[in-house]
Amino acid sequence: MRKEMRAAVYLGPEQIELQSLPIPEPKEGELLVKVRAATTCGTDVKTYRRGHPKFPPPFVFGHEFGGDVVKVGKGVTQFYEGMRVTANVFAECGECYYCQRGQGNLCENLVYNFGAFAECMIIPASIVRKTTFEIPAHIPYAHAALLEPLVTVVHGWHKVAVQPGETVAILGAGGPISLIFIQLLLRSGAGQVIAIGHSPARLSVAKELGATHLVNAKEQDALTTVRELTHGFGADLVIECAGTKSTWETSVEAVRRGGRVLWFGGLPSGTKVAVDAARVHYGEIDLLNMHGGTAAEAREAFDLIVSGSVNVAPLLSGEVSLDQVEQALKRMMAGEVVKMVVNPDL
Ligand SMILES: [Zn+2]
Ligand SMILES: [Zn+2]
Repeated sequence: MRKEMRAAVYLGPEQIELQSLPIPEPKEGELLVKVRAATTCGTDVKTYRRGHPKFPPPFVFGHEFGGDVVKVGKGVTQFYEGMRVTANVFAECGECYYCQRGQGNLCENLVYNFGAFAECMIIPASIVRKTTFEIPAHIPYAHAALLEPLVTVVHGWHKVAVQPGETVAILGAGGPISLIFIQLLLRSGAGQVIAIGHSPARLSVAKELGATHLVNAKEQDALTTVRELTHGFGADLVIECAGTKSTWETSVEAVRRGGRVLWFGGLPSGTKVAVDAARVHYGEIDLLNMHGGTAAEAREAFDLIVSGSVNVAPLLSGEVSLDQVEQALKRMMAGEVVKMVVNPDL
């Protein structure tokens, strides 16, 4: 067997280098997986632009994948060589203060895993135990790779508890998160989904997946349009997926009295957001926040992919090789594509 593999290594903002690295050996409880498809993610784009607050470079980039188990560590019994698998990027410990309260996404000992933009990667033991899944034969590797974004959307979907007939406005629509959200909102019976974004190419995918109204924020004022479409009231629910201070603030203006806002897109530490306290308080506006998802939600998300309840194919805009990762991220930033599949065999 070969001893070296190619891997796209993140060296810092706007620096990714294709390197030859030793193929890692799985330790107790771990899996070594040959990556067959990995997908680019909004988090990769954010990290590429400005670094990641928790993870200093260098590290092998990428965290969404589907692949084949090529070696199992000691003590692994539920997976074996040749099995097709995907795994979430994180797993909770199941024992800490938060895990005991069903809030595993806030776990104090959360284990993360990176390294999908490479020929091979290790899955850490706790992720193997809690959030690794066998991919059935009829599901392509690249579809299973979308597990992680889906886990976070499932968590947000539970939080907003959409009621039949509700009008939902999504700020930052056209990105992968919003495109999954649209499908789950409609599944819950949302009446209207107003997709507000900047990229006509991405908004057309939102339309394909069932958004009832498209708003190009470069041409139309988002707030005015939402109010017009809701007879001046504002949306029942506003989901902010763009991750900017201005869209956080706009979302509070675009919601109706008694409605709720979900701030999905994270902002850098230290960011201060201005909201009208009287509007929020006397208007009974619920400001919801979320991050990640639990192991139970990872299972639920995986089942949504396997059953075909969520259509992930329209999120995949094309395929690239390992040495084109940087180019793929730049195309995401430009809004030309939704997600790209990285195929290490190309
Ligand atoms: Zn991701
Ligand atoms: Zn925990």
